[in-house]
Amino acid sequence: MAQLSDDCFAHQGPLLSVEEAARRMAAQVPAIAEIETVALAEALGRILAADVIAPIPLPSFDNSAVDGYAVRHADVGPEGETRFPVVARVSAGARPARALARGEAARIFTGAPMPEGADTVYMQEDCKREGETVIVPAGLKRGANRRLTGEDVRQGAVALPAGRRLAPADVALAAAIGLRGLKVRRRPRVAIFSTGDEIVEPGKKLGPAGLFDANRYLLIGLLRALGAETHDLGILADDVEVLTGAIGNAAADHDLVLTSGGVSTGEADHVKTAVERLGRLVFWRLAIKPGRPVAMGVIRGTAFAGLPGNPVAVFVTFVHVVRPLLLRLAGATAGPFVPLPVKAAFHYGKKKGRREYVRVALRPAADGGYEAVKHPQEGAGVLTSLTETDGLAELREDVTQVEPGSTIGFLSYATLVG
Ligand code: AMP
Ligand code: MG
Repeated sequence: MAQLSDDCFAHQGPLLSVEEAARRMAAQVPAIAEIETVALAEALGRILAADVIAPIPLPSFDNSAVDGYAVRHADVGPEGETRFPVVARVSAGARPARALARGEAARIFTGAPMPEGADTVYMQEDCKREGETVIVPAGLKRGANRRLTGEDVRQGAVALPAGRRLAPADVALAAAIGLRGLKVRRRPRVAIFSTGDEIVEPGKKLGPAGLFDANRYLLIGLLRALGAETHDLGILADDVEVLTGAIGNAAADHDLVLTSGGVSTGEADHVKTAVERLGRLVFWRLAIKPGRPVAMGVIRGTAFAGLPGNPVAVFVTFVHVVRPLLLRLAGATAGPFVPLPVKAAFHYGKKKGRREYVRVALRPAADGGYEAVKHPQEGAGVLTSLTETDGLAELREDVTQVEPGSTIGFLSYATLVG
C-alpha cells in the first residue's frame, strides 16, 4: 500500500531530502537584523547578536579551591611530613594575607585570595593541626587546589559567541564576568493557523464529524520553546479565498507564517494554491515519514511553512524543517541533532530513500544500556503515540530493515523540543 501511494506521487517530481529542504529554505531568508539589549534575567533562550568579550579575567584573582592551608610547594619535603607555622588566616572576600616567607603556611578558605608566594593548597582533611603549626604530607602536585586568574575565561577572550541560544549556564557566565545585559536579536514573530472545515476550537461544540484543534497548541508550545513570539490566528476554512486572504495578511507583519492541514493532494487542500498566488513555493514534498506533504515558501520576504494535518506529522516536520528555519531567522547557529545509539527492541521494515521517525519509549536493556520500544500505534494522527513515548528513533534514508538488537539513533523529546 505504501509502495502504491508513493508511485502515485512519483509523477509529481522527486521527494526532497530533509537536509536539502532545510538548506533551500535557509537560503531564502536572512536572519532578523533588529538588535535589543535585555537584562540578564530576561536573556534565557534569546539569541546573542554579538560576541561577548570578557571585560575581566575569570576568576579575576588567584584563589583557593578548598578549605585548607596555602604553602609554597618548594617548602614541602619530598617524603614524610613537613611542619609549617601558620602565620596568617585568609577567608573568602578578605584582602589577601601578607606574602608568605619560606617555610610558612596560611590558613585559607574556599574562594579566598592566595597569599603572594603561595602556590599550593592542602585540603584541611589531609592536614594535622598542632596549635599554631600545621603538618602536611608529601605527594601533592605544585599548584594543587589553586585556581589561577583567567583559568576559566581570559580577559578579552570570547566568552560567548554571537548566534548562541542562551542556556542557563551561558547567562551565568555573562553574570560571572560582570555583565548586566546582553545584546540579542529580536524574537521572530510567528503567525499560526489551523486549517480544515472539521477543526473546532477546544471548548466549543463538537459536531458529529468535528475534531478539536490540537495542532495550534502543539505549534505554540514548540515555537515558544524556541523563543519565538507566537500569534495565534485561529482556524481557517478549507476555502482558497479565505486561506489566501488570511495568509497574505499574516505575512505582512510576521517573520514566519505557519499553517497545518490542507497541504495534501485532496480536493479540499488549498494551502499550496494560496501560497503560489501570494508568493513562491520553494518545495512541498519531503522524503520523510510521517509528514511527506510540507509546503514551504516565501511570501513577500516572509517565510511560510504549511505543515501536514496529522499532529504527529506536525511534530516531526516541525522539528526537522521548521526548527532549523526558525533558528536561522532568529540568527542562531545550531548544529544538527545528534542521535544517541540505542538498541531496537522491535522489527520494522522501511522503504529506502526516505527518512522515517518511529515513536519509541526507552527501557533499560539486559546489557546495561537502553533499548527502544516502538509505540504500538503507528498512525500519524495518534497523539498518545507522542505522549506515551520518550522520543523518536531516526531511521535514515539507506535503512530498509530494523531487527531487535539493531543499533538505531534515538532523539529524545527533551532534545527535539528544547
Ligand atoms: P489534512 O492534511 O488537512 O487532510 O489533515 C490530515 C488529518 O489531520 C485529518 O484527519 C485532519 O482532520 C487532521 N487535522 C488537521 N488539522 C488538525 C488540527 N488542527 N488538529 C488535529 N487534527 C488535525
Ligand atoms: Mg484538512
